[in-house]
Amino acid sequence: MFLISRNVPLFICPSEQNPKKKMKTQSIDLTIKILGNGGAINKGLPYNSFIINDSLLCELPPDIMLSLHRNKVHLSLIDTIYISHLHGDHIFGLPFLVLSAFFNSERTGDKSSFSLIGPNGLEELAHNLVISAFTKSHPCLSWMQKFCRFFETDASGTPNLTDGYETSLFKLDHMMETFGFLLADSSGKGASFAYIADTLWCESVLSVIEKKPRLVLIDLNGSLDDLKPVHLSMAELIEKGIPVAGNQSTFLGTHLREPFSSELPQIVCAEPGMTVVVPSDKKKSVAIGPPAKQFC
Ligand SMILES: [Zn+2]
Ligand SMILES: [Zn+2]
Repeated sequence: MFLISRNVPLFICPSEQNPKKKMKTQSIDLTIKILGNGGAINKGLPYNSFIINDSLLCELPPDIMLSLHRNKVHLSLIDTIYISHLHGDHIFGLPFLVLSAFFNSERTGDKSSFSLIGPNGLEELAHNLVISAFTKSHPCLSWMQKFCRFFETDASGTPNLTDGYETSLFKLDHMMETFGFLLADSSGKGASFAYIADTLWCESVLSVIEKKPRLVLIDLNGSLDDLKPVHLSMAELIEKGIPVAGNQSTFLGTHLREPFSSELPQIVCAEPGMTVVVPSDKKKSVAIGPPAKQFC
């Protein structure tokens, strides 16, 4: 593992990243819960975020606390937070998550702590965001410094994101340094899940799809008539991705402008509250559950 952080050694082992993780190697199903499916500009959708096996939270958009509450996800279960890149729709929820965790610890004695994994500059931005939101004198700042560990990584990093799976990161083609991740079953059953965050079509998108992950959560914010393309479009996925993956991968479109419907069974619109199970047993199919009831 090679991760970079200001307050930890350059080389760390997964148990150091998070002592709660024990690097289990037995087969474990992956359960991906969609918390939000919207891109930076969208028609009223909760912003893109999701949680894997109740403990790995991916992305911290501005409305992350609302999405966690709506989906009945408790902060105390989360131990690892993955940030693909430092655009506001992926990180600006951090001060509110820190504030909530701080108050939980004050009121209930809850001892939540988080390992935050993301690109270079993550820790400094987190620090500045908390100060901007709540001032330097707010005790949630020192709570963050004590209970949040930041691991800044490049594409060579192999953090332990979730038990039973080996993680590899890949660089995407976006306006700033952005990494997706691939989870491969530690017992050698192949690629189970890929998260392709904000990106244009590029070599690493192709090479991830060539591995035929059973489930691919993919940025589909783009459209063929975009004046300056920034994101993937459904048309590109159909033209360049589906012929490679065949029917071996299910693509869940997220980071959207608005919900879509698809005539291809392999492409599904991610919806808030949706739960997708990728069984570790390859004989069992990927199961997509209906969105859970939302409450206001
Ligand atoms: Zn974004
Ligand atoms: Zn972005």
